[in-house]
Amino acid sequence: MIDFPEARDFAYADINDDPYIITVSPRLKLQKPTRIIAILRHELGHCLLSENPDHSEQEADDIVETLFGHRIYYDSENIQTIIPANWPRPLEIHQ
Ligand SMILES: [Zn+2]
Repeated sequence: MIDFPEARDFAYADINDDPYIITVSPRLKLQKPTRIIAILRHELGHCLLSENPDHSEQEADDIVETLFGHRIYYDSENIQTIIPANWPRPLEIHQ
């Protein structure tokens, strides 16, 4: 899939134009709800940080952790989850 070349790519936020658009892969609906919630929250984080387009991936997690009161973790496949796992975002993936 052109928009989602990597196995761990499930969604992205386009914050360059108003309105912001979050695009999701058809594969997202096949994921566990605990992943879907964390992935979508992470993308909302990018939208909330749109005034600083150079924000980091960890900053996207941080802002929605504050908003929703739940941490964004990374599972054994380095995909976001709300189930306690690795935190903060692993350094081997896009920062
Ligand atoms: Zn991101």
